[in-house]
Amino acid sequence: MFLEQFPGEGRYNGWIEVICGSMFSGKTEELIRRLNRAIIANQKMLLFKPMIDQRYHEENVVSHKGSSLIAVPVENSSEILAMVTDEMVVAIDEAQFFDEGLVDVCNQLAQRGVRVVIAGLDMDYKGVPFGPMPKLLCIAEYVTKVHAICLSCGNLAQFSHRTANESGQVLVGAVEKYQPLCRACYNKLAH
Ligand code: ZN
Repeated sequence: MFLEQFPGEGRYNGWIEVICGSMFSGKTEELIRRLNRAIIANQKMLLFKPMIDQRYHEENVVSHKGSSLIAVPVENSSEILAMVTDEMVVAIDEAQFFDEGLVDVCNQLAQRGVRVVIAGLDMDYKGVPFGPMPKLLCIAEYVTKVHAICLSCGNLAQFSHRTANESGQVLVGAVEKYQPLCRACYNKLAH
């Protein structure tokens, strides 16, 4: 389990954490767990999500298990910089849907002393690195890759197989459109 590492003695530096993985890997659940700890510590926090993701509730970030936090929907990464004032923690869910400018925004926030916590899909349904995620993984101090369970064989899963017969990189949905698969089971489907 990821545990925050505070330098102590009044010192506080910014840093970037990324939680990545496939659909149903528990990314958002882990993001919410970390943010709830920041809230308990009385740290001022802002959570953003892309405007594109409107499943469940428009202003909540909700995990598949049902826990939730209030999130600010934004259209692009530059809106995040404009809205952050004196927050100690800035979080971004579904980061894969953001523009490439998110990388610079996260760097700027961390350099200002903000703890930046990012959650997102590392690969799209074709197994290709998704949006700004690969660069975010590179610039982060801490990376956590979480895994789902393969629905076909029970091994650890890292691919989000799309069961819906629709193309296009962005197709928001849950169980009815995707299933987590391990490498072997995913490859058997010959994408
Ligand atoms: Zn499998």
